[in-house]
Amino acid sequence: MNIIILGPQGSGKGTQSGLLSKRLGVPCISSGDLLRSEISRKTALGKKIKSIIESGRLAPDNITLGLILKRIGKHDCKNGFILDGYPRNKQQLEDLKKNIGMDILFRINIPDKEAVKRLSSRRQCKKCGAIYNIITMKPKAAGKCDKCGSALVQREDDKPSSIKKRLHIYHNETKAVFDYFAGKGILAEINGEQSIEKVFSDIMKELEKWRESR
Ligand SMILES: [Zn+2]
Repeated sequence: MNIIILGPQGSGKGTQSGLLSKRLGVPCISSGDLLRSEISRKTALGKKIKSIIESGRLAPDNITLGLILKRIGKHDCKNGFILDGYPRNKQQLEDLKKNIGMDILFRINIPDKEAVKRLSSRRQCKKCGAIYNIITMKPKAAGKCDKCGSALVQREDDKPSSIKKRLHIYHNETKAVFDYFAGKGILAEINGEQSIEKVFSDIMKELEKWRESR
């Protein structure tokens, strides 16, 4: 089955996509990962994407769509896949509708206040890039990376003002996507303000409901 998981940053959607992927035995496809992989492999397209991103713009929707369609065409997607964080605006929704049928969208909700709290407690190792969280995933020694011992810092985009700005954009852009799937009766609202295990079991319950309704 073809699944979408969307949620604001800090909602834990990446974690849930990973769990669901394992449970269902279908791959999890993140548009961000696809773009990053193109860049790190230094393909012609990767170089183009890099220059666009470095100029401060987002990767164009047609490039993202192309990468997703290519990925979905691979053999391991024949029984389905999970799209993590896509489509997240009206254009991407239109692109998707033209090309792929989707079965269900899981929307992981957390209040903005909680997202700000979770993200602003994130710290990153200056040297190796490892991510920590001073509330939920503390390093063994305060302020130091477990892996390499370097100093942990707060990234500029993890500061509350940047987070609030991103959340605002997220809510505006995704509204059309949620409205569309709600209209089709395949939007499952999930409370993300619970333990990882509880969020996952709620997702599985919704999945069961969906299966029974077919
Ligand atoms: Zn480190």
